[in-house]
Amino acid sequence: MATLDGLPPLRDVIQRHGLDARKALGQNFLLDLNLTQKIARSAGALDGVTVIEVGPGPGGLTRAILSLGAKKLIAIERDSRCLPALEEIGEHYPGRLEVIEGDALKTDFADLAGQGPVKIIANLPYNVGTQLLINWLLPEDGTWPPFWESLTLMFQKEVGLRIVADEDDDHYGRLGVLAGWRTEARMVFDVPPQAFTPPPKVTSTVVHLTPRENPLPCDVNKLERVTHAAFGQRRKMLRQSLKPLGGETLLGKAGIDPQRRAETLSVEEFVRLANCL
Ligand code: SAM
Repeated sequence: MATLDGLPPLRDVIQRHGLDARKALGQNFLLDLNLTQKIARSAGALDGVTVIEVGPGPGGLTRAILSLGAKKLIAIERDSRCLPALEEIGEHYPGRLEVIEGDALKTDFADLAGQGPVKIIANLPYNVGTQLLINWLLPEDGTWPPFWESLTLMFQKEVGLRIVADEDDDHYGRLGVLAGWRTEARMVFDVPPQAFTPPPKVTSTVVHLTPRENPLPCDVNKLERVTHAAFGQRRKMLRQSLKPLGGETLLGKAGIDPQRRAETLSVEEFVRLANCL
């Protein structure tokens, strides 16, 4: 049966190339091209944009991104079995798809991106998704604004809730503070387990993040130390959980009531604490 982009249906591609899903690689494939187009569209206009995709697998999201007009798509895939299937997509969109076989955790994304606007779009392998997000939020060389203009990423819903959480939310923690400090983050839509092959145990969600041009000035390492200590004992009062960092004295300097708990502090208050360290 013909598909929207004239390439073979993904089910056939998977069968022809023997791409049985491997759990160790976080492989849950999306086969519905309408759904992959919906995900790619939530990144905004792709015309003339360079996109980086992590984990293209058999290429469902890859095909959507290219069909929506991305000027160039750089895709990083760890599983060499997927390369022949991706090559067929590259032939259908000459000169626009570059596939790199490798581990996204060891990839220098800023170096790959080069000049011009870059959007990152990915149905992430669950076992490395959070670490990749943290790498993009806290680049080692400290560059901000970053090389990317948006991140459109699929996570387990539980992780998505933690990324977009504000204070006084049960899901609020270190990830919510870091994401809220440097980006505006929102959940776009949920994707049920049965949309994937094989279906995972939990619902997934697409999260969209755009960098703040001028996040509140703060030393990343200090912010990490404060959030780590505060949320490490999230049910305790801050005067207790922050004792190793100065406890009541630190809280007094920042003008924060020592009886409060970590989950009640706004991002701005965490930044104030970090700046008083
Ligand atoms: N994008 C495809 C889709 O939506 O159907 C596949 C998504 S699947 C959830 C995750 C993909 O990431 C798999 O193709 C897997 O092989 C790849 N992968 C897993 N770990 C990786 C890593 N460290 N670096 C790059 N790719 C990885």
